Amino acid sequence: MLLEIIAFSLGVIVFSKLLPTLSEEEVMQEETELMFGEAIDQEIRNHLTVEEDATMNLAVQTVGKRLADVCDRKGLVFKYVLLKDERINAFSGPGGYIYITRGLLKFVENQDELAGIIGHEIAHVCLRHAVKRLRDSNASLDSKEKLDELARFIVFQKYTAECEQEADKLGVIYTRKAGFDPNGLANFFERLYASQPRIISRGLFERFLQATIIGPERVKSIREYISQMETSERSETREKVRQKD
Ligand SMILES: [Zn+2]
Repeated sequence: MLLEIIAFSLGVIVFSKLLPTLSEEEVMQEETELMFGEAIDQEIRNHLTVEEDATMNLAVQTVGKRLADVCDRKGLVFKYVLLKDERINAFSGPGGYIYITRGLLKFVENQDELAGIIGHEIAHVCLRHAVKRLRDSNASLDSKEKLDELARFIVFQKYTAECEQEADKLGVIYTRKAGFDPNGLANFFERLYASQPRIISRGLFERFLQATIIGPERVKSIREYISQMETSERSETREKVRQKD
């Protein structure tokens, strides 16, 4: 058991190195990031209604807390916002705001799938993807127009495929570290992709479901990554045993 724990943490350490080192310019003062996060959250709330259901909120917060406890920004207080929206979507803003729609919550089949989604969003926050966008846009807190533009960017997740891949990988590390099945995100994407025609006919389609974003290729690459991670852990276990002998 102890050996298993050692091997597990070693594997995580090796894979955590994939978190890129951020340059001075990429890291914003956390205080500034929080102010923007709050302002953008207000913009989002102006357009979308918050779901107050206590049971649903608790389900999101319970999974979120376990992931936040193992992520790379432990000092940040993550805020989980459940939206009264039947479309299947999840997104994150600067300052640790994680948004989940009621439609998504209804679609997930288990905690591992939900953890896969939240882990991916927490990874976007840790990788400061929204912060980089903020910097590039020269946004100011006084410009309602700019804030609205940023809110749209966040809701419709116009990140590059490269950013998505980074968040997929880091999210998988977080879910595994928090004790969830790391296949949750891939399982969710696979089911979502398979249900696409039915979901489109029910009017729940939006960017989150586009084949270029969530297709068999993305699922394949997440599964390959998990398998690499597990192989790396196994070889480290063997190395550890060899050293003990
Ligand atoms: Zn994403």
